[in-house]
Amino acid sequence: MPKHIASGLKYLAAVKLREQGYFQKDIAKKLGMDRSTVSHYLNGRNLSWSSIEVAESITSCCNHDFLYLTYSLTGDVDNTRTIVGILVEQKFRAVVGDTCIGCGVCVDVCLMDNISVVDLKCQIDSEGCCGCLDCQTNCPTNSIQILEVQSPNK
Ligand code: SF4
Ligand code: SF4
Repeated sequence: MPKHIASGLKYLAAVKLREQGYFQKDIAKKLGMDRSTVSHYLNGRNLSWSSIEVAESITSCCNHDFLYLTYSLTGDVDNTRTIVGILVEQKFRAVVGDTCIGCGVCVDVCLMDNISVVDLKCQIDSEGCCGCLDCQTNCPTNSIQILEVQSPNK
């Protein structure tokens, strides 16, 4: 069953990419699938609608739970980053305060691989942030603020 739900998540991501104007070959490349599977998915074949319904309910969770449920279902961190990056509609802005001591805890907890420490200062790529808030929650000096800058359309 987890595999079917992971397929449901890929289906949702494929539909979103198609809405954004991507060609099937590009969708296949982005999602690590073969082109015929993408074609089947987009034509509603080879998928159970119950899997899609469960996948839709997962995307409705808070972004942290969406991220970790996707990771547990796919078992693949790259796939997880791609699916979550496509399906999270909000945009975020990360603000790092001067209290950062460069400990690297935030780097370790970011499943999206979106943080680095340069010259003992945390740097966060706001573009790739899914808003899971793990960095903000785990920073020992409370130096990170993750701010939503665009309302979700979901
Ligand atoms: S966890 Fe906090 S203190 Fe440590 S590097 Fe990240 S922002 Fe800086
Ligand atoms: S909120 Fe923090 S931990 Fe989560 S994706 Fe954004 S930068 Fe990474």
